[in-house]
Amino acid sequence: MKNTWFVTGTDTGVGKTAFSILWTRFLVAAAGPVIAVKPICSGGRDDAEALLAAQRNSLQIGDINPWHFPDPISPVLAAQRVGRRIRLAEVVEFLAPLREGTGDLVIEGAGGLLSPLGEDFDNRDLLTALGARAVVICPNRLGAINQARLVWESLPPSVRSSSALILNGFPSEDASTPTNREGLTHYLPGENIFFLPCQEDALRSPLPPVLADLHQWTKRREERPSK
Ligand SMILES: [Mg+2]
Repeated sequence: MKNTWFVTGTDTGVGKTAFSILWTRFLVAAAGPVIAVKPICSGGRDDAEALLAAQRNSLQIGDINPWHFPDPISPVLAAQRVGRRIRLAEVVEFLAPLREGTGDLVIEGAGGLLSPLGEDFDNRDLLTALGARAVVICPNRLGAINQARLVWESLPPSVRSSSALILNGFPSEDASTPTNREGLTHYLPGENIFFLPCQEDALRSPLPPVLADLHQWTKRREERPSK
């Protein structure tokens, strides 16, 4: 079964791109053709360039990142500064043929879950319109329980059961790092929480075993999608 994965986060700069690269690499190796896109970005196209390098197909940068704006501010405002307006319907229309391909689609959002993307939508609106699985990236350090709960509870209830929370390792661990997963299991299902060790170079580092765990969990969810 094909999946559309929407990678979002508790904030910007929390590791969405690194996870998207690793997940794309894993899916390419495990399941075959995969397309990874960053439809909208502002302040540079580094994320999209990195995603392009992680996939094995003939797509070009414009195919995976059609909306890009120079100012490093909210995309909706960066677009307005250059006289552009982005609307939800056109982004959904852009993604539609990519979802009809033979493999999974990995979409990296911009900013965090409630960061505005365009005139009439934010990341949550887009993933909901797509019926995508959400992958929420949260830094595994002090504050993770609050940040993860805020975002998890902001997901539409219908999206939560098929979504994953990634506790992302950073070089600067703290005393909370080994405890956050347990702390969060009081508030969301432990089976939806995955711990990703710190990755120095997502494009080249060995694929961490947790990705296979996430893949297996997804398959099990597909066997009981209504729960
Ligand atoms: Mg990124």
